[in-house]
Amino acid sequence: AKNNERGTIQFYQTNLPVQMDSILEVESALRKAIEQEEFILHYQPQIETKTGRIHGAEALIRWESPTRGLVPPNVFIPLAEETGLIIPIGEWVIEEVARTIRSMKKQGLELPISINLSIRQFYQRDLVERIEMILTRYDIDPSLITIEITESMAMDAAKALVILKELKALGVKLAIDDFGTGYSSLNYLKQFPIDYLKIDQSFIFDILDDRAITDSIILLGHRLNMSLVAEGVETKAHVELLREMNCDILQGYYFSKPISKEALIDFLTSFDQT
Ligand code: C2E
Ligand code: CA
Ligand code: CA
Ligand code: CA
Repeated sequence: AKNNERGTIQFYQTNLPVQMDSILEVESALRKAIEQEEFILHYQPQIETKTGRIHGAEALIRWESPTRGLVPPNVFIPLAEETGLIIPIGEWVIEEVARTIRSMKKQGLELPISINLSIRQFYQRDLVERIEMILTRYDIDPSLITIEITESMAMDAAKALVILKELKALGVKLAIDDFGTGYSSLNYLKQFPIDYLKIDQSFIFDILDDRAITDSIILLGHRLNMSLVAEGVETKAHVELLREMNCDILQGYYFSKPISKEALIDFLTSFDQT
């Protein structure tokens, strides 16, 4: 389309009303989805490299739309972010994770769970108070919660540092997600009270050909006293190499896709027996 400017303009002219209409449509569908609780969390297990034991799980949202089917987060999270609907959706996520931890506790199970925050949520004025309220209401040990933010969300490093310190004081764990793909000032990274560095899956996909970047990230993270998590671990070769490279925690389809809460509990109990 770049070599055909006229065509491009025409494209936008003819499609603009349709596009705007469909954004409004999705927005109102999302509002309804919040009211009717059409969201669901799936959980992806994270495995300790050394012991093979389950370390925790990451909560990943899906939208079970009656008309659209199962909508993946990459499709609706950006729109939720744009419209501000991410605030109530994000709050639902935190509360649902709290409910999951509480119901596991009743079954004698304890598992740390990671929550993804979006940028608007992260910079929301009363974020820390809201998280604290939910944890208190459900009587959850804060150290069972890991908050994941991406590197690019911390672009305003001074502002991010204040929030990260407040979260840390609350007792939750902190992770930098998709590490290596965004802008990051290593100088600030050193000051961030981060527990986990999650190596972006694009580096893991490449790792059999080129391990230089992953090697460097692992070295850097360990020097800063962080634990390293590899995402997108899909094969046995990945596992073996990442073990050799001293990566602490592994997450990916090789172990499990994101699964329902019930399947997670099954996964946990069958893991415990071995
Ligand atoms: P992410 O946080 O980087 O999550 C990892 C994504 O990689 C997930 O996609 C997961 O299903 C997928 N994945 C895991 N293992 C493998 C693997 O071995 N191979 C491959 N190819 N993919 C793997 P998903 O669930 O579609 O989520 C996409 C993104 O949506 C997430 O990326 C995250 O940025 C966002 N997201 C998900 N849940 C939430 C949420 O509750 N709140 C917010 N704000 N964002 C969320
Ligand atoms: Ca994540
Ligand atoms: Ca990630
Ligand atoms: Ca990502």
